[in-house]
Amino acid sequence: MHGKNTLRIMFLGGVGEIGKNMMALEYGRDIIIIDCGATFPYGDDMPGIDLVVPDITYLVQNKDRIRGMLITHGHEDHIGAIPYVIGDINCPIYGSRLALALIQNKLKEFPKLKAKLITVKPRDIVNLGAFSVEFINVCHSIAGSFAMAIKCPAGMMVHTGDFKIDYTPINNDYTDLERFAELGKQGVMLLTSESTNVEREGHSMSERKVGATLDELFAKYSDDRIFVATFASNVYRLQQLLDLAEKYHRKVAFTGRSMVNVTETAYKIGEIKFNRDNFIDIDRLNNFPDKEILVISTGSQGEPMSALTRMANDDFQKIKLGEHDCIIISASPIPGNEKMVNNVINRLYEHNCHIIYNDLADVHASGHAYREELKLIHNLVKPKFFMPVHGEFRHQKLHKDLAMSMGEQERNIVLPQIGDVIEVSRNGIKKAGTIPAGQRYVDGLGYGDPESIVLRDRKQLSEDGVAVVVLGLNSVTGEITSGPDIISRGLIYSNEAEDLIKEAKQTIVDSINSQPEKQTDFSIVKNDVKRVLGNFLYRKIKRRPMILTIVIEN
Ligand SMILES: [Zn+2]
Ligand SMILES: [Zn+2]
Repeated sequence: MHGKNTLRIMFLGGVGEIGKNMMALEYGRDIIIIDCGATFPYGDDMPGIDLVVPDITYLVQNKDRIRGMLITHGHEDHIGAIPYVIGDINCPIYGSRLALALIQNKLKEFPKLKAKLITVKPRDIVNLGAFSVEFINVCHSIAGSFAMAIKCPAGMMVHTGDFKIDYTPINNDYTDLERFAELGKQGVMLLTSESTNVEREGHSMSERKVGATLDELFAKYSDDRIFVATFASNVYRLQQLLDLAEKYHRKVAFTGRSMVNVTETAYKIGEIKFNRDNFIDIDRLNNFPDKEILVISTGSQGEPMSALTRMANDDFQKIKLGEHDCIIISASPIPGNEKMVNNVINRLYEHNCHIIYNDLADVHASGHAYREELKLIHNLVKPKFFMPVHGEFRHQKLHKDLAMSMGEQERNIVLPQIGDVIEVSRNGIKKAGTIPAGQRYVDGLGYGDPESIVLRDRKQLSEDGVAVVVLGLNSVTGEITSGPDIISRGLIYSNEAEDLIKEAKQTIVDSINSQPEKQTDFSIVKNDVKRVLGNFLYRKIKRRPMILTIVIEN
């Protein structure tokens, strides 16, 4: 058992990366989970893979101790893995009305799954074993977003979730700064804060400014058909567009499956409001003059099958673009998507239509805090210990520097990585080993089903090769008795391999020797070797070979 009054935090995703956010908090016998996100594989990184979700081996092994899953908000990187996880750990899920409605939507595609969903409101408190969790309203690019104040006998932790500070938000959805300040006064042991925009100086733009820019564009292009591509989940943006449609007497057509789904869902629970009579089916556009039409579509990321991309490629039967069309891309490319978005913009220019995107006008505002907003939260919460999360390593590092520039102590800041277990008590914070963690893939053939794994293995072998690690370990002390030896095929030309393999071996040895306690559970050692070597090879040669570890006990 771990020290009394120690909170253990386990990172299953969302650190060292932007995507698949998930962490678990453990105090005594009780475990709670925060978020359960997925990542979409971008570009050519993972052929044939549709979705990447966290490895939850540790949670499955300890599922009897899990008291609940708490959802910060309904973005895919926070809820996308739920259908692939909840069947194995079966715990109640707490979240805002919109987040739960979006989860419900997902679960509909998995009729066998049963999940207990419990709606919470800002400032509600939920007791889960030794934990009590308070939900705090924050402003973000989706309604129903929460920060959380989590109390247990070890102390209080504040987790920001994704947030920005918008002094003129839509629907009065303010970040509850008053509550952050009160908690700061009570004494916060640990802050975990998102880091997405730590590279950006100053303050993020208000969502209302986007509305004003869109209004100007609607006035300027008053005779044209207007198309707006945006994120389906940004209900504030959608609300502003619907209000403009009303103001400028335009009918609205939605296109794109997620756009239709999310707007229906948000409408049903009252998160967006509009007059249903103003809606038309996309098939009926030709019955109306150009100046009476607004089309809201998906495709702001240049996704190949989206309505916008197909229109740009002249591949969308219902709509042909021309000089009387104004196209607004009300989003910014997610890193990795720039090329696809630029391709679409280039194609759109070929149609002689008017094109407005983020480089030309303020048609998008980020939902994530810039530096001055991050500083304000540090200032109000005044944490003793701090961990930057929701960012790649460079974001975490810059966020650490930011905290130190505000007087926080270096020894009180930890940059967690996937699989890390962090122990924190009033006396200190430290890394305390690892748990199995990493990526699991969902492909077109399903998840965890054996045939799909065979196909995946073949793909991995053909694309990235294989590395076999042979390692002798003392079964009592856990010390290395022989090796590691690494045999590889299809991974790298043999004349370059020698130095790389030498370095890889040393990385494995260092990792095993750096464990605070020698590990004699060899399944954990195997997982560690796989993770360490996998990360090393990806860093060095951008490949993800299949890694097999053979441990010889002696
Ligand atoms: Zn988000
Ligand atoms: Zn996020």
